[in-house]
Amino acid sequence: MDLDLAQLVVKGANSQSGLSWLQWYNAHKVYHPGYDLNIGNGNQDKGKIITTPCDGEVEYISELKTNNGFGLHLVIYHPKLGAWTHYAHCDSIIIQKGKVKAGDPIAIIGNTGTTWAHCHFEVWTRGLYNIQLSRKWPKKPYEFYPVNWPKWQVAQYYIDPAVFLNDCYKLITPYMNPLDSQVSSWARDGWDWCISENIISSDALPNKPITKEEMATMLYRFYLRINRI
Ligand SMILES: [Zn+2]
Repeated sequence: MDLDLAQLVVKGANSQSGLSWLQWYNAHKVYHPGYDLNIGNGNQDKGKIITTPCDGEVEYISELKTNNGFGLHLVIYHPKLGAWTHYAHCDSIIIQKGKVKAGDPIAIIGNTGTTWAHCHFEVWTRGLYNIQLSRKWPKKPYEFYPVNWPKWQVAQYYIDPAVFLNDCYKLITPYMNPLDSQVSSWARDGWDWCISENIISSDALPNKPITKEEMATMLYRFYLRINRI
């Protein structure tokens, strides 16, 4: 994976000692359905912060620290991308419920359920989410590992984290660009509105000429926001 993109989840990630996307893991008989994000080997990454790469909402936090090897486990739903991100082996969870914004700290790297501290990061499609919900595992519905699944099936029901993070990056680029780092909340609000109205796409390319009404509406919304009306 592009290591710059990995930093959307673990800042400073520049090497990996763990498993990568669809790497065969013989000990568990599984094509690893995500990425193990860390900076170094051993437990030196314990205590480092995990951030969410995309706006979303907390969906699930595991009750125990040893669940099927997932350890303390957090799931966030991302409506903009229609996907669920999983963060396993956490030492602790920072956000307990509610909405999160891209870049928000959400958890602390740990080694719960595993040996070396790292963040097991996987991304679910809606199809996999629906299948797991239908299995009616109310206490631990998300501690699922696709053991003995063929590679094509894993690739069908999980999203390549590199692809997902690239989509996240397109969404948050305007806020992460150093030149835009001072962007105010009303401008961010306007940006979100433009995307929701399909005036621009997430990578900032105009989808269509803007109408006078749309421009006037945007300016009026900015006026209200700036003046706190
Ligand atoms: Zn892993």
